[in-house]
Amino acid sequence: MMMMVRGAKAWNKIAHCMYKIANYDKIVKRVSPIEPWRRLFHIFNMRHNKSERVNMSQSNRSKVDTLSPERHPRGTRGDSTVYPVISRRARGLSLGVNLFPERKVCDYDCPYCEVKPFSNPDARLADGDIERELRHFFAERWLLYKKVYTLQDISISGNGEPTLSPRLGEALRAAKRVLIDESSRDASLSTVPTVLITNSSGFLRPEIVNLLGEFGEEWAFKIWAKLDGGTEELHRALSRSAFSLAEIVNGITEMSRRIPLTLQTMLVADTRTGRMLFDATAYASLVGSILADGGQIEAIQLYTVARRPLESWVAALSDVAMAEQSHIVHAALALEGTSAAKIRIECYGERGELVWR
Ligand code: SF4
Repeated sequence: MMMMVRGAKAWNKIAHCMYKIANYDKIVKRVSPIEPWRRLFHIFNMRHNKSERVNMSQSNRSKVDTLSPERHPRGTRGDSTVYPVISRRARGLSLGVNLFPERKVCDYDCPYCEVKPFSNPDARLADGDIERELRHFFAERWLLYKKVYTLQDISISGNGEPTLSPRLGEALRAAKRVLIDESSRDASLSTVPTVLITNSSGFLRPEIVNLLGEFGEEWAFKIWAKLDGGTEELHRALSRSAFSLAEIVNGITEMSRRIPLTLQTMLVADTRTGRMLFDATAYASLVGSILADGGQIEAIQLYTVARRPLESWVAALSDVAMAEQSHIVHAALALEGTSAAKIRIECYGERGELVWR
């Protein structure tokens, strides 16, 4: 009898695990469609490297090998300015441009931030560095990367809020010039957009709205703008900034009248209280108000923490909870009108994009 009970328990456990694995595969659509190709690439590359035309140093090889959505290495010196990453939200290879290689500069203090304060004064950018580093990447490393990856975008972000950098305009123009030049040698780069990843506070400054608006008129340009929480209280808890939610929403509305935006929204839990720091209904009503005031929202990216956050009390939401919140946002947007109902919602769990519908 005892044996039978143990056997039944063991069988139940196995069945439960199998159910979880099956369910997980259904719900999680990892970036990993490229993963098997990446591995194959490395096997091929290691066998053929000596006779290959590409002169790949050991350090470059290990850099390609260690790229993953969980690691965004920014390296030192030039590597800390221009760095390739596998981005779940870009759905592949993104070439990051870090406007703050020397220290973190941000007017938010998000508890989930992955960038801790640091100091590296020698890495401070000088005139022309960004373009030089971009050109260096395409001259020295792109031949290697293109064997396995398609470049999805050049993203301006890095250790802080890019709209606070006096080099934002320089970075946008450098990305455009380099992509134009490189496209004449490699047609796959001709449709690569430039993406700005911002916390939205820069939209409160007219000179930034003008700079971005004008750049958007002349070049393939996307803006991913942060909007967290949904209520004033949650916005304060998540941004720990001097800006009110109303100011940020006004800024987003202003900017999105010029360029359609993608909203980036972080969903986390506070382990001290067990509370989820997101109000889907209030959030949907903010989005509805942006649209009603003439703003344009192309997509919403709901995501949770995938790397170690600044504060230890920040916890990621489970895949099931993320999918559930996506449903609630979708249903609440439908009540805000036809345009809101049409907004594409992307949902990202700890390990990858989720199929939530
Ligand atoms: S806005 Fe971005 S860089 Fe600034 S604290 Fe928040 S997560 Fe970190």
